[in-house]
Parts: sequence; C-alpha cells; structure tokens
Amino acid sequence: MAKQPVPKKKTGKSKGRKRYGSFKTKVLKRLSNSLSLRECQNCGAKHRAHHVCKECGQYRGRQVVDKQKKIDKITKIKA
Ligand SMILES: [Zn+2]
Repeated sequence: MAKQPVPKKKTGKSKGRKRYGSFKTKVLKRLSNSLSLRECQNCGAKHRAHHVCKECGQYRGRQVVDKQKKIDKITKIKA
C-alpha cells in the first residue's frame, strides 16, 4: 500500500475555528462585491444593478412589475 500524508498533530478547536472564520468573511466579501447592490430611486431599498426593485417593482423610475397583481394571484392558489 502506498504511503499517504498524515498530519503530525491534531488541529485544535481554536485553530480550526480561526481558519474557517477567516474563510467565511472572505467568501461573504466576495459575494457582496459580485452582487453590486444599488439603492432604488423610488423607495430607497437595496436591489441588484440592472434589475427590477423587488420592493416596489420599478426599474429606472418606470413601473414594470405590478406588485398588487402578484399578491392577488397567490391568494387565489391558496383558497
Ligand atoms: Zn423600490
């Protein structure tokens, strides 16, 4: 059987937690940079650039998605 690398000492709790903590912050930073959130001109909520605002359904000051209609559709399916 071929030899395989084996760690000399067990990695402690704090060392492992430190490593994964820094990894988590790195990943979160990368995600927030890639999304590039912008503020909505109408309601001021955060939305993705070049995308319709999910809060009010407007894009560049123009009503694109009717939020009231969507709510009606959902209630019909449930009833
Ligand atoms: Zn909005």
